[in-house]
Amino acid sequence: MTKRIYLDYAATAPCDPQVLKAMEPYFFEKFGNPSSIHAEGQEARAGIEEAREKLASLLGAKKEELIFTSGGTESNNFAVKGTAFALSQKGNHIITTAIEHHSVSEPCKFLEKKGFKVTYIGVDKYGQVSPSDIKKAVTDKTILISVMHANNEIGTIQPIAEIGKFAREKGVYFHTDAVQTTGHIPVDVNELNVDLLSLSAHKFYGPKGVGALYIRKGTRWERFLHGGDQERGMRASTHNTPGIVGLGKAAELCREKMADEAKFQSGLRDRLIKEIKDKIPDVYLNGHPAQRLPNNVNFSIKYIEGESILLNLDMLGIAASTGSACTSSSLEPSHVLLAIGLPHEIAHSSLRLTMGRWTKQEDIDYLLEQLPQVVGKLRQMSPLYENK
Ligand SMILES: *Cc1c(COP(=O)(O)O)cnc(C)c1O
Repeated sequence: MTKRIYLDYAATAPCDPQVLKAMEPYFFEKFGNPSSIHAEGQEARAGIEEAREKLASLLGAKKEELIFTSGGTESNNFAVKGTAFALSQKGNHIITTAIEHHSVSEPCKFLEKKGFKVTYIGVDKYGQVSPSDIKKAVTDKTILISVMHANNEIGTIQPIAEIGKFAREKGVYFHTDAVQTTGHIPVDVNELNVDLLSLSAHKFYGPKGVGALYIRKGTRWERFLHGGDQERGMRASTHNTPGIVGLGKAAELCREKMADEAKFQSGLRDRLIKEIKDKIPDVYLNGHPAQRLPNNVNFSIKYIEGESILLNLDMLGIAASTGSACTSSSLEPSHVLLAIGLPHEIAHSSLRLTMGRWTKQEDIDYLLEQLPQVVGKLRQMSPLYENK
C-alpha cells in the first residue's frame, strides 16, 4: 500500500495503542457485568469508576456528575431532550445557534414538532456567536441555551464562559457540545460555567461508540434510556466496560499531552494557512483567524468543487474533508458555511484539513507540494474558472 497521510482528525482519530492496551483485559479477563455483586462484576465496576475519575480530572468535574453514553450524538440528544422534557412545565423556549452539529439541531427540530419554540442565533463572518444576541433572545419561557464549544467544520471557538455566566444569572440551563475541544484544548466545566457538556472518545484518541455527558449536580433531567438503573438511573443498559475504560485512558493521555500537542499542531496549522494563501490564488480562510482549534484549517478554494479536490487528494494518498463527514453524502452545501455568509458556489468549494497526534511536518510538506498542483489542474478543467 502506498503511504497515506491522514488529515481528517475532526471526523475521527485513530485509537491510541496505549488506549487499546488498557481496554484489552476488559474483553475476556475482566468481562463481568459491572452491576453484578460478585468479584467479576466488581472488577469491571472498578475499571469504570477509575475511568470516571480520569475523565472528571480532565474536566474539573465531580465523578458523580458524569454519565457514560454511546457517544457525542447520544450525549447531545440527552442534553437537549432530557432537559426540555424535565422543564416543560417551566417553559418551552430553547436557544441555540445556526452552526450546531446535527446531533443538537435535529433534536431541536424534533422538539419544535412537540410544541417547543427554538431560536437559532446567527453567527458573524468568522462563525462566532455574539453573547449579546443570545441575551436579547432570552424570554421568561427560556429553559435551555445550547452553544457548541468549537465548530467541527471551521474550528471557531465560542465565548462559552461569557454565555454561561449570563445563563446562570438568568437561571437558564446551559449546554455545550465540547466534542471537538475535549482533549485538545482546556475544557473545565466550572471555568466554562456550563450545566451540561457533551464529549466523545473517538475524537480524542479513544474508541468509537462511547462518550459522556457532564450534568452539573442539581440539574433537573428526564431519563433518556428507560430500563435498568445503571448510571444512577440516568441511562439504562449494561455498561460498555472496555469502551469506558478506553475513554478514561484517552482522557488521561490527553491531560498529559494536550498542551504540547496543541502547541505543535497550531504551528502546523499556521504554516498551512500561510503557505496555502501564498501558493494558491483565490482562496479564503473560513473560520476565525485567532479563536480557532489548534488543529483546524478550512479554506474555500474558488472555482472548483470541494469534492473533486478530495477525490484527487485521496488518489495521491491524502485523506481530507469538505467539512463534515455527516453531510458528505448530501448535495446541500454545509449549513455552517452558509451561516457565515458564503454564497452557495463558494460554500461548495471548501476543503477542511484537520491534524492530530500522529501528524508530522513531512505530512504537511507533502500536502503543500500536491495541493497547488491539484487545484491548478482542476481549475484548468473548470468552466467557472474560464469565465472568471
Ligand atoms: C463528531 C461530533 C459529534 C458526534 O459525536 P459521535 O460520537 O460521533 O456521535 C457531535 N458534535 C460534534 C461537534 C462532533 O464533531
